[in-house]
Amino acid sequence: MDRIDVLISAEQIRTAVNRVAQQISTDYHNRPLTILGVMTGSLMFLADLIRQLDMPLQVGMIQASSYRGTQTTPGTLRINADFLPRLEDRDVLLLDDIFDTGQTLSALCTHLAAPAVPSASPGKPRSLKAAVLLWKEGRQTVTMQPDYFGFRIPDQFVVGYGLDFNNEYRHLPYVGVVHPVTPLPVA
Ligand code: 5GP
Ligand code: MG
Repeated sequence: MDRIDVLISAEQIRTAVNRVAQQISTDYHNRPLTILGVMTGSLMFLADLIRQLDMPLQVGMIQASSYRGTQTTPGTLRINADFLPRLEDRDVLLLDDIFDTGQTLSALCTHLAAPAVPSASPGKPRSLKAAVLLWKEGRQTVTMQPDYFGFRIPDQFVVGYGLDFNNEYRHLPYVGVVHPVTPLPVA
């Protein structure tokens, strides 16, 4: 069994999610907000956050898989738009579990602001921002920054609250640092 040390408790997460929900409620008051969760890591953050939002709201999911290493360029992010609602004239907030290098959210923003295939386009959002639960320090390779975040964390591989290691541990109610018996993925 891998050893997991708690980094952020369920209680601390609850407090941070409430704070982010407050900020979003204030900023998007009376505006046509659509929150798009990035599959699969955002599932818990999305579920907890939207239940704290007492306002008109549409919710969708977007899937992004990126190729890292030598194959990686901003254009190689594969995006599955099948789950997207119409985004025309909507204020769109992308929601992800963690901002690491920033490549994923940056590429998703570029894609949604100017979709590559007009016929399959969900429409151009009125505005586009990003929220993450975790912001890993010192890892960014892009100029964009998340507009909302829960916690800044050190450069460690974390699991739980939606985040996985080999598809395990997403269900943990806290965020932990995993000390695996098998090697960690190379980011
Ligand atoms: P980025 O494009 O910002 O480098 O990476 C974003 C994605 O990488 C996240 O949505 C997440 O899926 C994955 N990722 C980055 N850091 C971690 C981590 O510490 N733990 C886990 N489980 N996934 C991570
Ligand atoms: Mg992810």
